[in-house]
Amino acid sequence: MTIHLDFSGYCTANQRHTYKGATSKKTVFPAFWAVMQHPTLGYILFDAGYSTHFFDATKSFPNILYRWLMPVFFDDKNSVKKKLKNTYNIDIQDIKYIIISHFHGDHLGGLPDFQHATYICSRRAYEHIHNFSNFWAFRKAYLKKLLPQNMAQRTLYIEDMPTTTHEILGKMHHWQAADLQFLPLGGHCKGQIGVLLDSKGGDETGKILLAADAAWDFFSIKNNAPPPSIIRFFIDNYKELVQNIQKLYHYHKAYPDTKIIVSHCKTTLEKYFKIP
Ligand SMILES: [Zn+2]
Repeated sequence: MTIHLDFSGYCTANQRHTYKGATSKKTVFPAFWAVMQHPTLGYILFDAGYSTHFFDATKSFPNILYRWLMPVFFDDKNSVKKKLKNTYNIDIQDIKYIIISHFHGDHLGGLPDFQHATYICSRRAYEHIHNFSNFWAFRKAYLKKLLPQNMAQRTLYIEDMPTTTHEILGKMHHWQAADLQFLPLGGHCKGQIGVLLDSKGGDETGKILLAADAAWDFFSIKNNAPPPSIIRFFIDNYKELVQNIQKLYHYHKAYPDTKIIVSHCKTTLEKYFKIP
């Protein structure tokens, strides 16, 4: 398997919310995604960045509040669909699977462009969003409009995969066909997942842990420094978030060679692409 790391659009946020003690200044949160090429399964996408669909889904109330609360910067030439074609020469129909770390707009935006892919996510996350009306989904920062009607028929749930137990990370779900290990990383969002893989080439080689929004900055994991508790109003479960950061801190100490990539960490990601 090989991997390329990229992003489609970004929003801005205050750095002081990313970890306790961070200075108050505006920072950029790139909408990260990754594309993996598996030798037999083909291309697997991890998340899908912002897109024009995100703007369509946030045109009217209440979803327009997203854009007021968090300004989003996006140019259509940088959508996951166009970058796949123009940068990596990958056609949309060649994306066979899309791993959805969680159901926030900055991770789902490009989803409607992939009509034939099979999704992989946690049942916990999917059922949680599925049970909300559009309005209540908005309260949790979910954009249901970005999900297809036949989502349930097109989804593999990690909970249905065989499990193993990692001595630090705990319960992992093994997608045997792709040899990918999924791990629950709730807190930021109910049912959020990360993925552990072994890359043989592309932008990074060796063990990689794509940890989604388990933290907003790798600094949090490296120093066991969770975000300030004020952010509990914007996330699903602050206690679970803190526990998962601690778990990743111990994992990083024990396995420093595994590259942990959190989706919006500018410091980590600017090694792979230019961030505004
Ligand atoms: Zn995010």
